[in-house]
Amino acid sequence: MGESVAKAKILIVDDEPVNIHVLSEALQGAHELRFATSGPQAMKLLDSYRPDLILLDVVMPDCDGYQTLEMIQSSPTAADIPVIFVTAMSEIDDEEKGFALGAVDYITKPISAPIVRARVRIHLQLKQQRDLLERSALIDGLTNIANRRSFDQALSRRWRAAQRQGTGIMLMLMDIDHFKQYNDHYGHGAGDDCLRQVAHALDQAFTRGEDLVARYGGEEFALILAADAARDQAARLLSVITELQIEHLHSSAAKVVTASVGAREFPRPGEMEIADALKSVDELLYQAKQAGRNRCALQLEGALGIEMIC
Ligand SMILES: [Mg+2]
Repeated sequence: MGESVAKAKILIVDDEPVNIHVLSEALQGAHELRFATSGPQAMKLLDSYRPDLILLDVVMPDCDGYQTLEMIQSSPTAADIPVIFVTAMSEIDDEEKGFALGAVDYITKPISAPIVRARVRIHLQLKQQRDLLERSALIDGLTNIANRRSFDQALSRRWRAAQRQGTGIMLMLMDIDHFKQYNDHYGHGAGDDCLRQVAHALDQAFTRGEDLVARYGGEEFALILAADAARDQAARLLSVITELQIEHLHSSAAKVVTASVGAREFPRPGEMEIADALKSVDELLYQAKQAGRNRCALQLEGALGIEMIC
């Protein structure tokens, strides 16, 4: 943590160059600093620059600190950046207003370098911990790939984007075959290890553009892919699993760990609800199992029936 705190990016917004100078002297060396001398200038910078922390002067002509903070908070990309107000002692009555607007802290002028450094360090650490928590809430603890929550969020985002752009999506749901028997015979430690290997292999195999591989449930994985070369992608998914050559002598499907897969192209996602789309892919997965496992039931757009890929 220490190292990345040291590299943190800080934006200082103050209309008086002398204040910018004093603040940057206090923080010099430890951080990457950028400056703006007005609220609108800061907002323009925030289009392309993502600081970890903003030090914001309260009293500025035209657009004061409060107005600037409101603009920051209504920006979809900057709203989560913590803001510390920098204010003269005489303005301290307004502290409450600043906190109400969402500032995380106050620094008072005249500037004390050790206090600036301490406050900045504390808020950078808090932000880092929060970012870490947010990330870990979207990552499956066992396999280290996206979890179901992350998949659901990504799918609804992709579904909307695909609708807008007129592009297609391919969804795949995958179950490891006879995983209960695997756990029963090789133990839960080996079962966990198997899940980790499968997750890792999938994550390595599907990396194009916005491909997403997620752990969907116990031994179930879900993939969001671009809708092209559907047969190839389905075949690749099956071979990625068998090529791991994880022994599974208690499977009726093969002597190694295999998977059953349901896959479907959605060339025009707008025509269907996400829940119905997932349900239809789940139904395909069921068909793959019914047909003997270690295969993919694929539904291509315009095709009359389901195609089995082994
Ligand atoms: Mg000022």
